[in-house]
Amino acid sequence: MRALGGLALLLVAAPLAAQEVDGPPLADCLARIKPEALARGVPEPLYDRLTAAMRSDVSVLGHLDDQPERVAPIWDYLALLVDAEKIADGKRALAEHREIFEKVSRAYGVDPYTLAALWGIEADYGKTIGRRMIFRSLATLGCMAPRRRDYFRGEFLAALRVAATGEVDAMKMRGSWAGAFGHPQFMPTVWFRTAVDFDGDGKRDTIGSMPDYLASMANYLKKAGWVPGQAWGFEVKLPANFNEALAGRTKKRALARWAALGVTRADGRPLTGGGEAGLILPAGRQGPAFLVFKNFDAIFTYNAATSYALAIGHLSDRLRGGGPFATPWPTEEKPLDRKGRKELQTLLLARGFAIGEVDGVIGKRSREAIRMIEAQAGLPQTGRAIEVVLEVLRRGR
Ligand code: CA
Repeated sequence: MRALGGLALLLVAAPLAAQEVDGPPLADCLARIKPEALARGVPEPLYDRLTAAMRSDVSVLGHLDDQPERVAPIWDYLALLVDAEKIADGKRALAEHREIFEKVSRAYGVDPYTLAALWGIEADYGKTIGRRMIFRSLATLGCMAPRRRDYFRGEFLAALRVAATGEVDAMKMRGSWAGAFGHPQFMPTVWFRTAVDFDGDGKRDTIGSMPDYLASMANYLKKAGWVPGQAWGFEVKLPANFNEALAGRTKKRALARWAALGVTRADGRPLTGGGEAGLILPAGRQGPAFLVFKNFDAIFTYNAATSYALAIGHLSDRLRGGGPFATPWPTEEKPLDRKGRKELQTLLLARGFAIGEVDGVIGKRSREAIRMIEAQAGLPQTGRAIEVVLEVLRRGR
């Protein structure tokens, strides 16, 4: 797994200002870690420089329990990650950087659309690669997290070792609350295993070099078992009597077997393709169904959530010119697009809710504010950015 949480998570979490806690706990902890860092080859001046006057950022601790691709309904998650703006921006990025996308694609066997989708969701095509200094986030988590402290401490040491290579600019090692950094949003240990130098300057610069970061993402998928030329999957229709127990990403069957069970492609094309596929029902029997191949599993390892892998796969299809899913999600409530979410946030701020800045990102505090608005309006408390909530706020009730 690439990360505990990359930007795909950060996007949904409120961009809290760093909260500082003074006092000895972090300094003591950093002093205890120092000998280990030096033993692993981190130069003392570098360690001192990166940890000098460091104070903890306890805001990262709250994110340990805030994993939106698991708490948000899948249709909200998809609406957030794959909207009209994201599709238009991706098409523009592909046109603008066609040569490098194609060069990386030829070298690693991963198509440009998947690479663009991954870049678009992890880094919003380079617009957002995270604002927290990862040394501070990882030191806080490694010293103060209620669980997984050893994991984060290991990543803190790895981040220092990344800085020590001099291959990326240490002062630009910013990223998610969990310490994933650069355009691919690799955790530091993943960077060591996966990052590549593609522009040939001897540095694996996943922050400053587009050839390097695109190739590093492609290398990740290649190492995760990407099959060149194969699709991630496609949407299917199920027969009325379909046995739901057959569903599951890892319950792979030959396509002929699925065809015999009455499964057909939603776009009417024949059910053919290489390899075995699993069938997923992300919203149950009433929502869209998909047959997914090995490449879906490769994407899944990047951020272990079906919703995440589906978002990447779907965005890649949209960038290729494909349309929305044929079967609607089983919900009456319509998720807001980015413009609607920003209007919602503006109205929440106007009502006095301290939800942070207006950025279209619905975090924990926005969800709490929405629940209060819903309760006041006598609606079910979903905490979601849906049209009915925006209508209530517009009416000013
Ligand atoms: Ca390079």
